[in-house]
Amino acid sequence: MKYIDEFRDGEVAKGIAQAIAAEVRPDRRYNFMEFCGGHTHAISRYGVPDLLPESVRMIHGPGCPVCVLPIGRIDLAIQLALDNGVILCTYADTMRVPASGGLSLMRAKAVVDKARGDIRMIYSVTDALKIARDNPEKEVVFFAIGFETTTPPTAVAIKQADAEGLTNFSVLCCHVLTPAAITHILESPEVRELGTVPLDGFIGPAHVSTVIGSRPYEPFAEGFRKPVVISGFEPLDVMQSILMLVRQINEGRAEVENEFTRAVSRDGNLKAQRLMDEVFEVRPSFEWRGLGEVPFSALAIRARYARFDAERRYRLEYRPVADNKACECGAILRGVKKPTDCKIFGTVCTPENPMGSCMVSSEGACAAHYTYGRYRDAETV
Ligand code: SF4
Repeated sequence: MKYIDEFRDGEVAKGIAQAIAAEVRPDRRYNFMEFCGGHTHAISRYGVPDLLPESVRMIHGPGCPVCVLPIGRIDLAIQLALDNGVILCTYADTMRVPASGGLSLMRAKAVVDKARGDIRMIYSVTDALKIARDNPEKEVVFFAIGFETTTPPTAVAIKQADAEGLTNFSVLCCHVLTPAAITHILESPEVRELGTVPLDGFIGPAHVSTVIGSRPYEPFAEGFRKPVVISGFEPLDVMQSILMLVRQINEGRAEVENEFTRAVSRDGNLKAQRLMDEVFEVRPSFEWRGLGEVPFSALAIRARYARFDAERRYRLEYRPVADNKACECGAILRGVKKPTDCKIFGTVCTPENPMGSCMVSSEGACAAHYTYGRYRDAETV
């Protein structure tokens, strides 16, 4: 296969669907979590659940970087712009995540005192560096979010700022780590004790795995006996990965398999890993929306680059803030509930007016369900 259309071929998809239907055992169910929001998006967009037997259920995981940002972190970014008068730069979806007091970065942008601060949407961290160079009299902070995929560019930007001697640039670092989140899910009471989230295996992330490789998932297969299939983001990738998971379960295997061989190796991108390790260190704990405090699950800037660390520079103190009571994002991110379980899904809460983080990004479970109308999903399961 060379071209994107070939990864979306309906006839091939039907063939894989037939293979899955033929291979599932009639005496059991198959519950697979797609960790990554990119897979959630693909599954909704291409109607993958419609092609699966009733006994195969997909559970959305917490791998959408915007969705897992807790309110307290957005509040810190807003505080920097409103109270500290910085030019706060971040990626588009982050602008719309609801924060405290009915604010979001987008709404704060309307009230920020432009004479002092500013809030700007950027496409790349290099845009933030350019803004810092162009505005030497202003402080510029990059609000950095995302998993291991977006972390190396932030590391490059910090090293670049260091090399250039930029004194007005810093980073509010909220980069999070995938393996720690998977461990947290597998050790959660819902999975281990209550059985409310039956989990038989994982569709492993695509882009994250290009950086970290497939090796970090091996403990989940060996220690927790949960098969992992790293999958590309196209619908045929996802269908093939589901078939591979079904086969592992049927054969009593729990291994890490790589469907996304065109981009992922066992060791990953060693250069990117070295960059991350040079600039960042693992935080002892970090709050995730829905998962709570997760040990060793996020990165902070190393002391060597402390002058680029906005948390130290502005003496920011993190305060956890409870989610909107009507919002079920927390339970959805833990795999306990589905978007349609939320009473305000599609009525009060829509992509145009998100009440929770899962309705903001196209990778969010609620936004994906709403946008592609796959409300039928697996609610019969
Ligand atoms: S529909 Fe909106 S309020 Fe409900 S869980 Fe999803 S994001 Fe939260």
